Amino acid sequence: MSIDRLPAPKKPGRWSVPGLGLLKGLAVTGKNMVQSFYREDRMTTVQYPEERAPISPNFRNFPFLVYDNEDSLAGLRCVACSICEKECPPQCIYIVLERDENGKSLKRPKIFDIDVSVCMNCGICAEVCPFDAIYMDGEYELSTDNRFEGLLFNRERLAKSAAYHAKLRPEQAAEVEAKRKAEEEKKLAAQAAKEAKAKADKEAKDKAAAETEQKGESA
Ligand code: SF4
Ligand code: SF4
Repeated sequence: MSIDRLPAPKKPGRWSVPGLGLLKGLAVTGKNMVQSFYREDRMTTVQYPEERAPISPNFRNFPFLVYDNEDSLAGLRCVACSICEKECPPQCIYIVLERDENGKSLKRPKIFDIDVSVCMNCGICAEVCPFDAIYMDGEYELSTDNRFEGLLFNRERLAKSAAYHAKLRPEQAAEVEAKRKAEEEKKLAAQAAKEAKAKADKEAKDKAAAETEQKGESA
């Protein structure tokens, strides 16, 4: 490197008082402590478990399955496609598809288990689900003295209503609801168009048959 390309020597830094940063930090702590006696937003502690601090909208813990209407099992949105099971990094989801006596898929899970002792709360299952059927929960009081059954959540334990989802994550649930409604309307419109076409085709066919019959009679 030539001498004219060498970096310029650093200018001396600003003067600072030793320990000034520490004093500033203590001032912030003192201000928070004093204000915590009269300002609600400064009261950072709550009397748990009688009181619970609201969780952040971005807080996530373990997944739950969403169901519509009243029946927590019949109303599950999950169709047991197993995409989440395949994508789960630690492979802690186990799904068995329910089938009828002829082996035909009933598009719902017979078994849907999540081993929450293995789940790493990544949220990938919720991201990949194409049926808006699984979302991340905000429940955190999950301690148990049963290491096995207590931490293996089955479909009954995982099922939570769409109303619960709306309360937990209002924005996300509203977005999903609007999307599902639009999809449902599109489906109904396509069905109505199909029925109208079938009706028009039948009428045209009947008319053609009547005309042929009429021609035959007059001949
Ligand atoms: S939760 Fe979603 S991705 Fe997982 S099996 Fe059910 S429908 Fe498929
Ligand atoms: S949050 Fe992640 S680790 Fe837990 S079940 Fe879903 S994909 Fe698996």
